[in-house]
Amino acid sequence: MKCPFCQDEMKSGFLKSSDVGNLSFVYDGGDPIVLQKSRVFRNLFFKKPGLVCPKCKKILLDYENA
Ligand SMILES: [Zn+2]
Repeated sequence: MKCPFCQDEMKSGFLKSSDVGNLSFVYDGGDPIVLQKSRVFRNLFFKKPGLVCPKCKKILLDYENA
C-alpha cells in the first residue's frame, strides 16, 4: 500500500511488546521504532500487524474486534 502522505510504498511489520516491555514497531529494512519506553508491556506478548512509512513517521494498524 502507498503511504497516503508521501505516496511511497509502505513497509509491513508488527507493533509489538519487547522482552523488556517497550512498545515498538519492528519491520524489515530498518531499526525497531520504540514508541514507548516502558516495562508496562512486558510479558504481554502483544503483536499486531501493520504498515509503516519511516519517512513520514506514520504507522497504519490492522485490528480485529475482540
Ligand atoms: Zn510517507
